[in-house]
Amino acid sequence: MFLVCTRRCGGTLFRALFAEVEVDAAGAYQDHQVTQPGFVCLNCGSPALDLGEVPAAMEADAREEEAETAVMADVLCPVCETRVQLDANMECPNCGSPLEVA
Ligand SMILES: [Zn+2]
Ligand SMILES: [Zn+2]
Repeated sequence: MFLVCTRRCGGTLFRALFAEVEVDAAGAYQDHQVTQPGFVCLNCGSPALDLGEVPAAMEADAREEEAETAVMADVLCPVCETRVQLDANMECPNCGSPLEVA
């Protein structure tokens, strides 16, 4: 986790909006658990962003995009006029003509 103020005010203290605090019999703080992500900057009150989460989210996006581009295109062969799945060889599986993605 790496929290930063969304207004970049330079504040370094944040408040967890959704946290459960464990206390002892005297009510003294023992431990806490953040139950949901949600933080505000204590300096200016703006929402804080967890930069530690961003790279993982971006990686997931990148993986999804890769998966999409890996899907073979469905093209109409201009030579034999058959609708074929374009494969890695970039040629018509039906007649062997070279194909292009339109
Ligand atoms: Zn701030
Ligand atoms: Zn063909």
